[in-house]
Amino acid sequence: MQYQDILYETGEGIAWIWHNRPQQRNAETPRLLHELDDALTIAGNDPEIKVVVLGGKGDHFCAGHDLKEAEANRKEFTVEQRWALESKIYLGYSLRIHDFPKPTIAMVQGACIAGGFMVANMCDILIAAEDAFFSDPVVQSLGAAAVEVLIHPYVMGVRKAKEFLFTGGRLTAAEGERCGMVNRVVSRAELESTVHAIAQRIAAAPAFGIMLTKRSINRALDMSGFRDALAAHFDTHQLSHVSMDSNAVRDAGFTSSLGRAKAASGS
Ligand code: ZN
Repeated sequence: MQYQDILYETGEGIAWIWHNRPQQRNAETPRLLHELDDALTIAGNDPEIKVVVLGGKGDHFCAGHDLKEAEANRKEFTVEQRWALESKIYLGYSLRIHDFPKPTIAMVQGACIAGGFMVANMCDILIAAEDAFFSDPVVQSLGAAAVEVLIHPYVMGVRKAKEFLFTGGRLTAAEGERCGMVNRVVSRAELESTVHAIAQRIAAAPAFGIMLTKRSINRALDMSGFRDALAAHFDTHQLSHVSMDSNAVRDAGFTSSLGRAKAASGS
């Protein structure tokens, strides 16, 4: 596959998958997510690759799903069409990141919003630059029940997740580290070298032991109901897409929600 919206690079046992639409703040289109999933499959099948890093070219990790593209192509989607698309490219691809048999590291600078927040938080480890900020404003901006994958309570705790989603506000990298969502905060200049060093250390470790350890931690999550909770939320999210609030946003144009998202996040 010739990639248009991502970059795929490898070296020293590490695969680097970059969101590569810096002019659009790396907003995710379906094509970008198809490409990301394809690159993940290639990295998974390549015995040389021991670790995957997920990043974004330019000033931002990812500003969320591309609402202009959604406006142009999916505004009149039926419930059935939306369910089919979102169950594949949002819930399905996100779970494939979570279930990926090799360790994954999210490398986050600048905006990490909504759909981007979802993708970054499916990774095993999250390293953030000091300028990184996180938000999921879609309750406020779209009348949606969070994004498609309700990973929030698992990575930031229940109380923080509720505040984050109800207010649509921003979480700084430092706040993300305090609540356990971010492993480490470093300067913007040191972000890539820090991630590189962590990836090298993991790549040099016994691969089978690493794979089994990830499997065990993920199984502990599954035994506490993780997968069923995500599946239940996905259906709830679909219901929110056809609420009166959501329909009003659709009729006014998806991009009209951007102003409300900005107001909620205080930017
Ligand atoms: Zn949705």
